[in-house]
Amino acid sequence: MDAAERACRIAMILMDVDGTLTDGTLCVQPDGTELKSYHVRDGLGILMAGAAGIKTGIITGKTSKALVRRADRLGIKDVHQGALDKRGAFKAILEKHELRPEQVAFIGDDLGDLPVLEQAGLAGAVADASAEVKARCHYVCSLPGGRGAVREFIEFILKAQGKWDGLCARITEIGKPAAPAPVQ
Ligand SMILES: [Mg+2]
Repeated sequence: MDAAERACRIAMILMDVDGTLTDGTLCVQPDGTELKSYHVRDGLGILMAGAAGIKTGIITGKTSKALVRRADRLGIKDVHQGALDKRGAFKAILEKHELRPEQVAFIGDDLGDLPVLEQAGLAGAVADASAEVKARCHYVCSLPGGRGAVREFIEFILKAQGKWDGLCARITEIGKPAAPAPVQ
C-alpha cells in the first residue's frame, strides 16, 4: 500500500512539537521558560484539516503554556504534553476516539517519535528528521520542521482524500480568527 492509499483512511492527524511544528530551536530565558516559534502555514493547514472533519492532536515530551494557547487557537482538542512515553498517549487517544491505528497519521522528527510512527497508519517525517525516522516513514516531507512540513503533510492527506480543492474555495471562512471572548 502506498502513502496516498494510507492517507485516504486517515481520520486523525497527530503531531510532535519540537523539531516538527518548530524548527527545534529552544530560546531559554533567564527564568527557565522557553520561547519557540511556529509557522503560520502549518497553522492554516491544521485549521483546514479541522474544517475537513479530520481531528488533530499533539503528543510532545515537553511542556509549554504557549503551546496550549496555540493549540486552542487552531482547534486542537487533544494535547498530550510531558508524554515521555508517546506510545501511552497514542493508545489513550485511540481509545478516546475509538480509532484504529490505521486511521491515525503521525508526523515527527526524532527517535522519541519512533514508537508511535511504527504504529501509525500513515507515518510522516519532516525533511530534517533523523535518518532513523526518515527510514521508517511512509511520507518524508520536502520541507523541514517549523518551516511548513506539517502543512505539507496535511496537504498530502487532504489531496489524497479529494478534499483539498473544496477547502481552498472556503479559505476565507476557515482562516477567520475565532470570535474574542465577550467582555464581562
Ligand atoms: Mg521532536
